[in-house]
Amino acid sequence: MTSLRVLVVEDEPSIAELIAVNLRHNGFSPTIAFDGMAAQREIDTALPDVILLDWMLPGQSGTALARKWRANALTQAIPILMLTARSDESDMVQGLDAGADDYILKPFSTQELMARIRAVMRRRFPEAPSDSVKVGELTLDASTHRVSFQGTELRLGPTEFKLLQHFMRNPERVHSRASLLDKVWGEQVYIEERTVDVHVKRLRESLGAAGAMVETVRGAGYRFSAAALA
Ligand code: CA
Repeated sequence: MTSLRVLVVEDEPSIAELIAVNLRHNGFSPTIAFDGMAAQREIDTALPDVILLDWMLPGQSGTALARKWRANALTQAIPILMLTARSDESDMVQGLDAGADDYILKPFSTQELMARIRAVMRRRFPEAPSDSVKVGELTLDASTHRVSFQGTELRLGPTEFKLLQHFMRNPERVHSRASLLDKVWGEQVYIEERTVDVHVKRLRESLGAAGAMVETVRGAGYRFSAAALA
């Protein structure tokens, strides 16, 4: 199971680090950004599953960032939890108006933070079919190990299945060969990056017409995109 990526946008290093440590301890995979620019870079590299967004940041404020991400098709579905030291109710309203899913007042306990993250995830993805993913007309069901495209079942090898699962759960972002090795193959040290290319080739073949969804990003790796089919 891949752990949920949490982007922590917080300019106070001690708080950011504390949150990251707690997230890691609770099975999440945190990344820290100290301002809006760094946060945008992180988002461009890999879309997070949840964003924890500090209200007061140097440069663009948390609400400005929330508004920007809500307006963008790629980021609009990512749950945003605002972190704020202020208790002024009008600020909260502003944060929620800007598109935040919830806010949490500093200081907060780890338990509270985890509960709030789980709650926003449940609200955003109510049916959260953790076993089944659908991108365009391609469907993957992890519980039955079945993949189908336009209603026709496809046959995939076990590695291709895992690779596709990772791609489908993380669409529209660039995956380097190293990150695919890490996320799909795990801790096996003696695998070369070229192995990834071999399995991607097999995956494309197995997918038939849907194979075009696995794009090669020259010099960077691969991207899984429903748009590539159109
Ligand atoms: Ca701050």
